[in-house]
Amino acid sequence: MSKKNVLSDYVLNLAESATLKMSQLARDLKSEGKDVISLSVGEPDFDTPKFIIDAAKQALDDGYTHYTPVPGLVEYREAIVKKLKRDNGLDYGIANIVVSNGAKQSISNLCQAMLNKDDDVIIFTPYWVSYIEIVKLAGGNPICVEASVENDYKVTAEQVKAVMHDKVKFVLFSSPCNPTGSVYTREELKAIADVIAPYENTYIISDEIYEHIVYSGEHVSIAENKNVADRTIVVNGMSKGFAMTGWRLGYIAAPKEIASACAKIQGQVTSGATAFGQKAAAIALETETDEPALMKDVFLKRRDMVITELSKIEGLKLSVPQGAFYIFPDCSNFFGKSIDGVVIENSDVLAEQILDKTYVATVSGAAFGAPNCIRLSYAASEENLMDACRRLQDFFGSLS
Ligand code: PMP
Ligand code: GLU
Repeated sequence: MSKKNVLSDYVLNLAESATLKMSQLARDLKSEGKDVISLSVGEPDFDTPKFIIDAAKQALDDGYTHYTPVPGLVEYREAIVKKLKRDNGLDYGIANIVVSNGAKQSISNLCQAMLNKDDDVIIFTPYWVSYIEIVKLAGGNPICVEASVENDYKVTAEQVKAVMHDKVKFVLFSSPCNPTGSVYTREELKAIADVIAPYENTYIISDEIYEHIVYSGEHVSIAENKNVADRTIVVNGMSKGFAMTGWRLGYIAAPKEIASACAKIQGQVTSGATAFGQKAAAIALETETDEPALMKDVFLKRRDMVITELSKIEGLKLSVPQGAFYIFPDCSNFFGKSIDGVVIENSDVLAEQILDKTYVATVSGAAFGAPNCIRLSYAASEENLMDACRRLQDFFGSLS
């Protein structure tokens, strides 16, 4: 068989995750001895809080080494139900909850469970890289609704209204948003819910994985709107708020029919998430802890520092993010300029040249549906962030 035939059309049509690709590139350069600062992948640089690690060790000793029920350990799902009530004012039972290997898999399960070929899906843009590919893998047709920098990168209810129709399967967005850091207010979410509510076949997938990282105002779930509550699926997980990216634990709270469908898929694909991890995550959600808030305070300090430093680069258009840990500057003023004979035609070339010339790893905005921007994660030490900002100042200053 020729090599051409080995791989499926499915994988040949799949774009590689730009965030993970850049972070691997940064790792490779580092292992070659290069002085790389990676602001590419979005993951807290903190270790998981000790009480959660201790809980996982205890869980291993206590025999949490077997398969769990496919949708998750009962005690973890109970802890999630309590968390959703306590933190978000939402009413669910354990039959609504499915635990997966990260929120990424939760979103993938949902798309596989809900989409038929060519179903329309509205995606707020800029979007998290994987939304588009996961929707496309499930046969869906993404309709990107673009938020503007003038509106703090938030899609308005009027914009949603302009593209809504009876056959939209779901509307997908994150608040706080990756990559822009925008946080939708209660009023904005209510206005969007009011637009979607009359369309009885349309669901909402609300990705709330950055809920603990909000700097001003509060995190609000669109699911609190009664007119869409029974058609809203909340996606969340342990990765960001509890610095547990490597544990691979995400979950959904969904109408029972959808939750069961996701569990059915998962039962054939992964059998569920790791038992001792789930036990420790249950303890994380049930323990009164200020660890997420302490991490958020550090992120806020870093955000302010990076914004101050990047503001010194004339021509860079910055919006001040209210949540998550990303800065998403519009760099279009620099397109057409050159460095060492290479013309910066777009954000892909820009991110490549920044890495090549300064060893600062960022991600091109094109991967997030915003080709004028690049994304920097400030989930890195202050020292590295300061160093990276200086390198970026020199880089942009040397474009001509
Ligand atoms: N949603 C958003 C908006 C994200 O940024 C990420 C990246 N962590 C995920 C979902 C997936 O998170 P995980 O799979 O680590 O739970
Ligand atoms: N969500 C993070 C990011 O956007 C982690 C990497 C990934 O899963 O894509 O960088």
